[in-house]
Amino acid sequence: MAEKLNAVKGMNDILPPESARWEWLEATVRELMARYAYRNVRTPILEHTALFVRGIGEVTDIVEKEMYSFHDRSDKYGDNDHLTLRPENTAGIVRAAIEHNMLYDGGKRLWAIGPMFRREKPQRGRFRQFHQIDVEALGFAGPDVDAELILLASGLWKAIGLTDVRLEINSLGQPAERAQHRAQLIAHFDAHADQLDEDARRRLHSNPLRILDTKNPAMKAVVESAPKLIDFLGAESLAHFEGLKAILDANDIAYTINPRLVRGLDYYNLSVFEFVTDRLGSQGTVCAGGRYDGLFEQLGGKPAPAVGWAIGVERVLELLKEQGTAVPVSTPDAYAVVPDAAAMPVALRTLQQLRDAGVRVQMHAATADGLGSFKSQFKKADASGAAHALVFGADELARGEVTVKALRDGSGAQTARPLAELPAWAATLQSPAPNN
Ligand code: ATP
Ligand code: MG
Repeated sequence: MAEKLNAVKGMNDILPPESARWEWLEATVRELMARYAYRNVRTPILEHTALFVRGIGEVTDIVEKEMYSFHDRSDKYGDNDHLTLRPENTAGIVRAAIEHNMLYDGGKRLWAIGPMFRREKPQRGRFRQFHQIDVEALGFAGPDVDAELILLASGLWKAIGLTDVRLEINSLGQPAERAQHRAQLIAHFDAHADQLDEDARRRLHSNPLRILDTKNPAMKAVVESAPKLIDFLGAESLAHFEGLKAILDANDIAYTINPRLVRGLDYYNLSVFEFVTDRLGSQGTVCAGGRYDGLFEQLGGKPAPAVGWAIGVERVLELLKEQGTAVPVSTPDAYAVVPDAAAMPVALRTLQQLRDAGVRVQMHAATADGLGSFKSQFKKADASGAAHALVFGADELARGEVTVKALRDGSGAQTARPLAELPAWAATLQSPAPNN
């Protein structure tokens, strides 16, 4: 036998029945986005490496060590490209907005879903290929849109029945305010250099704000006593923050202000927020977002305000599982029992008509051992979860009929249905679709 090949470490196959949970979540998200009037975008999974270096920042974990990048061979379509599998979606969406001049007639509300790639240590809630739901509100400056995004995430938790998340918010102010804070922060960490780990010492001058984000418990004290960015904010930044809080309060959205919630890059500003849970160990952030008014300029576009968030799909699904949330599973309405292969042409024509009429039907197919006995076909019909069996027996077909047998209501009732009158009885097979 040939050697078996496995999937790449940290990259998962999503298979039935698990995939039903994904389909259900995606359908819910699609419906929800329409309610908030966000429109779907799909950008390429491969982008120029430079996009992420500029759009995420050189001194971030992602760009420093997590990207899947390669040097594409040159051909007549492009020369010596450095390409990267997207580690997140914001940079690609902003690139597309600039490239297609999407903001020419005003702001845009966009959403996307798809796989992202980061070379991280695979563990619970952390994979090398994972999926994000992304929303980006482009061209809007006020705290009302920041609040709308938080309400949208809350709306999603409600729609899927997720209860175990809490909201943390903070304000990063504007670059000038952060520069003052940064100087004080470096002075503070310098004075306590003995309490810093290696990572923090390395970041002290490149990205000191990120030290606040440390997951190292030994640094708790030195981080908690550090100067707080919020104390450096001017009147305008504070008004934006107050505006956000007022809308959250009016909507009874509970939150805590976490002064250590940061993004380490200059084009992030004002509102930042995360939805977190204690139930997924140190992979507790299920949604992370914030304002990035400087990014359009950073990527060569006309300046435009923008705010967005990303949800980690695997973490949300894991959390739902932890909570014991059941998800509707799609089962066929009917299963075709075909005792003799000679009946297949009529059977398949009938199934096709039923499907055209909206009925979900599973056909019985032969294995290498043939179609199997009548009894074993009924076992399969039962296991499929179908509510009805359609029996295409020779006697029935000779009369131009099919027998419909109830499998789930306990009655075992059998009715002969004329094939010629199929449109009239097709609807009686249908049960409500689980996603509606
Ligand atoms: P973390 O601190 O957990 O590494 P992050 O700051 O790198 O998160 P973001 O870049 O803000 O995460 O991504 C948004 C969301 O995407 C995260 O809150 C998380 O839910 C999810 N996410 C990020 N990286 C992974 C991964 N490797 N596997 C699964 N989900 C991920
Ligand atoms: Mg990370």
